[in-house]
Amino acid sequence: MSQQVRLNARPGQTVRFPNECASCGREASERMPAEKRAGQTTRRVDVPICADCGRILARRSGEEERRLRLGRVLAGAAGLLAGGLVTLIAPGGWPLRLVLGVVVAAVAGLLVWRWAEARAERAALPEKQAVRESARLVDFSWRGLTLEFARDGFAERVRELNADLLPEQGTEPLPDPPPPGEGTRAATAEG
Ligand SMILES: [Zn+2]
Repeated sequence: MSQQVRLNARPGQTVRFPNECASCGREASERMPAEKRAGQTTRRVDVPICADCGRILARRSGEEERRLRLGRVLAGAAGLLAGGLVTLIAPGGWPLRLVLGVVVAAVAGLLVWRWAEARAERAALPEKQAVRESARLVDFSWRGLTLEFARDGFAERVRELNADLLPEQGTEPLPDPPPPGEGTRAATAEG
């Protein structure tokens, strides 16, 4: 059964891990990013994994490949269309309109690409999803984060290695993530 660990680790503060794979327990040689986005803020913790699980992570299913290929085409098309349209209808001289067009094209392309990536991720091989779900960042705020580990004993060792970051017994639970503006400010101030 998966276990959660809550740590008072602020943005930029290091979380220590045992030198073993979060997924299978063998000696770790690589890192897997555990990420979570809330509004404009993204928090990332790198979790140790072994070479074999690293290879599983790098492997893509046929459906994943297909969705990523389609995503590239759609992102390009969305960028061209949105950028072209803005360049044509925006007021002002050509230089300004071109700059606006490029910016809008980049944003539109990026949004579509993010959507395509998330869609491809859902088509990942089961063993890849298992590795990914062995360590997840489930929640964070400006003053702490919650990690979840699927393998027995791993959460316990993380707790031992980060004893100085454990919340005091009986304190209130982690508050909701702050509104995007506040979170970003906290991240730049401390990170
Ligand atoms: Zn492994």
